[in-house]
Amino acid sequence: MMRSFTYQALPMRVRFGAGAVRALPEEVAALGLSRVLVLCSPEQEETGRMVAGALGERSVGVLAEARMHVPVEVAGHARDVARELGADGCVAVGGGSAVGLGKAIALEHGLPVIAVPTTYAGSEMTPVWGLTEGGEKRTGRDVRVLPRSVVYDPELTLTLPAGLSATSGMNAIAHAVEGLYAPDATPIVSLMAEEGARALAGALPRVVADGTDLDARAEAQYGAWLCGAVLAATTMSLHHKLCHALGGTLDLPHAPTHTVVLPHALGFNQPAAPTAVAALSRALGGVADPARELWALAGRLGAPRSLRELGMARDDVPRIAAAAVASPYANPRPVTREGVEALLEAAWAGEPPP
Ligand code: NAD
Repeated sequence: MMRSFTYQALPMRVRFGAGAVRALPEEVAALGLSRVLVLCSPEQEETGRMVAGALGERSVGVLAEARMHVPVEVAGHARDVARELGADGCVAVGGGSAVGLGKAIALEHGLPVIAVPTTYAGSEMTPVWGLTEGGEKRTGRDVRVLPRSVVYDPELTLTLPAGLSATSGMNAIAHAVEGLYAPDATPIVSLMAEEGARALAGALPRVVADGTDLDARAEAQYGAWLCGAVLAATTMSLHHKLCHALGGTLDLPHAPTHTVVLPHALGFNQPAAPTAVAALSRALGGVADPARELWALAGRLGAPRSLRELGMARDDVPRIAAAAVASPYANPRPVTREGVEALLEAAWAGEPPP
C-alpha cells in the first residue's frame, strides 16, 4: 500500500540522564521564570522539598497535594495557592498525578509547567488534561498544558517500588501498543513506539530484580519517554477506553488496570493489526504472539493479571462492556458487546489472552 499520512510534531524539550535534576534551575531560568510552585503527591513531599531547595529563590513553595485523576477540589485549591503566592510557573515532580495537577493550573492560569517525572505514566509528553468531579473524569487537549520542558532523571525513580515500576511500565507499553495500530499512526511515531516497547520490556525485569540498578532505570525511563510521546501523537483505542471505563466506573487503580487489560485488548486486536503485531514481535525479541508475551511478562514481573485481584466483581462485566461500546471510536477490529464481554471475562479471571 502507498504511504499516506499527516505528521504534526509537538514542541518537546527533554533533558535526560542521571543527575539531570541538577540542571532544573537552568531550565527554570531559560523559561524566564523566577517564582515557581513545586507540585508533588503527599507521599513524595521529601522529593518536592529537595527540588524546591535546589531551586533556591526561584521557588515560592511546595504544594504536596496531588491526587490520582485530579479531583476538581484539589485543582481549585492549587490554582488559588498559585495565585496567592504569585507563582509564574509550576514544577511538577512525580507521576501522572503531579503532572496532572500542573496541567490543571496551566489550563486556568496559563502558567508554564516543567515536569520532572518519577513514574513511567507519560503524561509529561502530552497536551491532554484530566479533571474528576463527582466520579466523572473529563479530559481534553490543550497545547497550553503541554510541559515546556521535561527533566528525566533516573535517580529519582530509584525509590519507585517494584510493583509500581512493573505496572507503570506496562501502562507505558500500552501507549506504544495502541499507537502502533492507531488510525493516525505515522512512520516516525511507530518507530518510537517499537523502540519504547523494546526498551521497557527489556528493562522492567531488571528493574524489578534490583530497583537500584541505575542503568536499568535509565533504560526504562527512556522507554517511558518514547511511549509518552506516542500517546501524545496518536488516537488511543479499545484498550484505553476499557481502562477509562474500569477506572471511572469502578475506581480501579490506574497502572495495575492497564497491566491486566493490555494483553487481552491486544489479543482481541491482533488478528486485525498485522503491522503492529510485526513491530511488537520485533520489540519483544522475535516472539510469535505479542499479546501472550505481554501476559507472560506481567507474570514474570509479579504484576497482577486479573481484574478480580484488583477488586472487580464478576457481575460488573456487562456494565463495563456496555460503557466501552457506548460511543464509537476507531479500533482495528470492530468492537462488539459480545467481544468485549468475552475479553473482560478472561481478564477478570486472569486467563491468558486468546
Ligand atoms: P501517580 O502519579 O498517582 O503515582 C502513584 C504513586 O506513586 C503516588 O503515591 C506517588 O507518590 C508514588 N510515586 C511516584 N513516583 C515515585 C517514586 N519515584 N518513588 C516512590 N513513590 C513514587 O500515578 P501514575 O501512574 O504516575 O499516574 C496516573 C495518573 O496519571 C492517572 O490519573 C492517569 O489518568 C494520569 N495520566 C494522564 C496522562 C495524560 O496524558 N494526561 C497520561 C498518563 C497518565
